[in-house]
Amino acid sequence: MAKLFGTFGVRGLANVMLTPELAFKLALALATHLGEGKKVALGHDNRTSSEMLDEAVTAGLVAGGCDVVRLGVTPTPVLSFAVRHFSCDAGIIITASHNPPEYNGVKFWDNEGAGFIRERELEIESLVEKGGRRADWKGLGKVSEADAVAPYIRTRISQVPRFKKRLKVVVDCANATGTLVTPQILRELGCEVVSMNAQLDGTFPGRKLEPVPENLGELAKTVVACKADLGIAHDGDADRTLIVNEKGEILSGDRVFAIAANHYLQGRKSPKIITTVATSWVIDDIARKLGGSVVRTKVGEPEVVGEYRRTGGDLGGEENGGVLFFDVSLCREGIMTAIKFAEAVSSSGMKASELDAALPKYYQYKQRAECPNEMKQKVLHALAEKFSSYELDRKDGLRITFEDGWLLLRPSGTEPLFRCFAEARDSKRAEELVMLGMRELKSVIETQGH
Ligand code: MG
Repeated sequence: MAKLFGTFGVRGLANVMLTPELAFKLALALATHLGEGKKVALGHDNRTSSEMLDEAVTAGLVAGGCDVVRLGVTPTPVLSFAVRHFSCDAGIIITASHNPPEYNGVKFWDNEGAGFIRERELEIESLVEKGGRRADWKGLGKVSEADAVAPYIRTRISQVPRFKKRLKVVVDCANATGTLVTPQILRELGCEVVSMNAQLDGTFPGRKLEPVPENLGELAKTVVACKADLGIAHDGDADRTLIVNEKGEILSGDRVFAIAANHYLQGRKSPKIITTVATSWVIDDIARKLGGSVVRTKVGEPEVVGEYRRTGGDLGGEENGGVLFFDVSLCREGIMTAIKFAEAVSSSGMKASELDAALPKYYQYKQRAECPNEMKQKVLHALAEKFSSYELDRKDGLRITFEDGWLLLRPSGTEPLFRCFAEARDSKRAEELVMLGMRELKSVIETQGH
């Protein structure tokens, strides 16, 4: 059968690929996987299709004999929190994160509030295929409703001291779920909050949901116009955060991660940061400065969490602005990232731009080359031969370390292409590296194709 699970759970066009029927089957499969009498937290984002899918998932869980704690509209980090808060055996969030409004998704969480590992997803997939086990009338699950947002807000506020210096912060939640929590938490921590795109609206009229620079122009202008100290942007389910500094400049996910890390890990003994092969050297600079270390994994949140579970660590993160604070959660915590960044500005007395300027500057270039899926492994092998005189990391694609930069050649997991990503301390060198990568990539693809 077709592979249901992608990098972020099951995701597709709502009511086309991800139908209520499929949502029911997925939920029944989870109930079968867990066993009768188990308890599942269920939340959804505010897409137009989310309530429909929530009803179908609820029915599937009840039919399989699991109790359901329905949370209604919930940011993903709050769902992860709720699984533990309500002592559930698993969780489901219905969201398509940063995808356009016509999409939706179903993602499973374990009893510690971490995304399901690959093996469990595969088991769900095979149970969908076989058909789950239905409970008899006495064994049907019970449905209850609960609010996770208020306890989440109280908990996060209790974990962070009130800010010493009052900040003015513009928060742009893209008419999505982050608006239920982030503005209020920042207000209670002592910020003056200006909210934009703050009404929940499943058509997402304010901006596109992915927090990338091209979608954050209005936020940047608003920060400058309001003379705010910083701007905060979440994606659709608030597990990722990007920051705009007081000058209206948008910081990349790497920089947000690094600044949050530098602040969060102050005073820890040899802090260990877990990140992926796609993250900037600026993370290594921070770790070095703090007397700590960096461990790199394959790309993806489950990889970072998996490494933490195997070997421990203090902080995890990705280059896209997803940061994991292992002390508080095993889910990417966009809300905590926003709090910690704001706290860093408030407690340092420095401006957001100054915190950024205090870190070493790097330049990055990204390109891509088409490559048929069946050739990817051969191409990778040939590339490793070509670059064999350099220091290579082959965890995920090929990361080649040069004295003054690095290059990542990585096959896409979903599309027939290779990504080529270079970083260096100097802009010209970064461009040279990306061109070198593209040249070798194309020549290898050409040779392998014949
Ligand atoms: Mg997301």
